[in-house]
Amino acid sequence: MNHEKEMQADVVIIGSGASGLCAALTLSYGGASVLVFEQESEPGGMTNYAEGMFAVGSRYQKKQKVGLTVEEAFNVHMEETHWLANPRLVRTFMERTAGTIDWLEEQGAEFSGLFTISPFTQRVWHQMEGLGKEGLIAPLFKKAEEQKNITIVFDTEVKSLIMVGGRAAGVLAEGKDGSIKAASKAVVIASGGYQDNQEWVDKYCKSGFTRPVIPARQLGSGIRMAWEAGAQPYDMGVMQTIVLVPEEELTSQLLTAGFQPRLWVNTLGERFVNESICWKFPMAGNALARQPGASAWCVFDDDTRVYMKEKGVNYVLGEFYDILKNLPDLDEELERGIQAGKVFKAGSLDQLAAKIGVQAATFKDAVTEYNECYDGKYDPIFGKDRAYLDPIRKAPFYAVKLGLAAFMTNGGIRINHKTEVLKEDRTVIPGLFAAGCSAGGILGDTYEVSTTGGSLSFAVNTGRMAGESALKYLGK
Ligand SMILES: Cc1cc2nc3c(=O)[nH]c(=O)nc-3n(C[C@H](O)[C@H](O)[C@H](O)COP(=O)(O)OP(=O)(O)OC[C@H]3O[C@@H](n4cnc5c(N)ncnc54)[C@H](O)[C@@H]3O)c2cc1C
Repeated sequence: MNHEKEMQADVVIIGSGASGLCAALTLSYGGASVLVFEQESEPGGMTNYAEGMFAVGSRYQKKQKVGLTVEEAFNVHMEETHWLANPRLVRTFMERTAGTIDWLEEQGAEFSGLFTISPFTQRVWHQMEGLGKEGLIAPLFKKAEEQKNITIVFDTEVKSLIMVGGRAAGVLAEGKDGSIKAASKAVVIASGGYQDNQEWVDKYCKSGFTRPVIPARQLGSGIRMAWEAGAQPYDMGVMQTIVLVPEEELTSQLLTAGFQPRLWVNTLGERFVNESICWKFPMAGNALARQPGASAWCVFDDDTRVYMKEKGVNYVLGEFYDILKNLPDLDEELERGIQAGKVFKAGSLDQLAAKIGVQAATFKDAVTEYNECYDGKYDPIFGKDRAYLDPIRKAPFYAVKLGLAAFMTNGGIRINHKTEVLKEDRTVIPGLFAAGCSAGGILGDTYEVSTTGGSLSFAVNTGRMAGESALKYLGK
């Protein structure tokens, strides 16, 4: 390749999401010069869409008297991840989370407060004002622009690492104006996940049918580059799966009506899960991934339609829809869904079964069993809380299509608790660091919601850690 342009800096960072910008600022404050390459024309990656981040012991938590300690959060997280996560890395990152909230505010980040994602989880989710794009990326980017020793190059995709004598020594990139050879003393991979790389999703993820919630170019190129440099592939296959109505905005009333803990049946017409698992959305994703075609139907009757329209819903996804609100546009939304082939409406259960293509006898058995759960105020099959049981008796009946999607993948590159990239034999690749969703070690096989916002928090904190470790490596 003919390199039209040569650049250089102490450290090159691949990606300008939360992890990349936090690494860049940390390095800059420590006196290093930084080159950030971003393949898109604006900063932020998937961080732009995130709502909030995990922290323990923050001033928000102290103010609200949330007594959770790092020790407790660590133990819960390690139990929930079946000790598959890297304990030293998890502990190190958790110890930093409270201080990082303060640090981010010093950079101009704005938090709207402390939330929980479900009635069963602790208040650990520090939400950003106006999602990640406004509350986090805009201020971090502004700060980065103010630093004389940070240069951010947009529309430029890093293609490979330059390795000299086993050490990371820069990158080769392709920009709008041609190819670039950037020499550096260290490289931080902060290039996010691979949820748009269907080949890898099929190969590594159990939920191979998954579609990204926000389609982008998250192809895992930084992960591939690290592997090519000798890094150990690590924790591939961990996805933040979720059950959604296909091709609906996260704020759509149709999505909210469909992703409710009502009766869910698979494409065989069988009930298959305690539907209130939707509060732990990645586990709802796991349950759906086990069904034929990773597809299902949320079934309700006309009384429930009226209830949702006039009174409200039992579940909302994060803060994308307000739990206290009803669904005033539900009738129009259902009609839109019918036109799009993702909602079916019928005057009888037999007709509904025929429309959604399931065996009528199996489907009607599932409905009868479900109604018996309601009548008996107890679900002997899956133990669903009676608060989420509604009868399916009044025609017309509705079925809303459910499919599998993913926010992000987590993992790919093995790092230690200093974010240094490790080879198969656990030795360090000098000068190479990884942070955020490109790095493995925070989870087991499933995204974990007791540490709600853990993925973004891991990105922000490992970004800072990578910056600090790279400074040490540079002798600064
Ligand atoms: C809708 C949605 C909601 C979410 N909500 C939450 C939440 O509330 N809490 C939470 O913890 N997590 C949430 N997440 C996940 C969260 O967004 C991620 O954990 C976080 O953004 C990861 O940050 P990152 O820096 O690793 O990756 P990113 O923010 O994706 O940044 C990676 C960057 O690298 C760039 N890049 C990739 N390859 C190259 C290359 N070869 N050359 C140059 N640039 C490259 C990308 O374009 C991108 O800008 C959500 C995700 C989505 C999609």
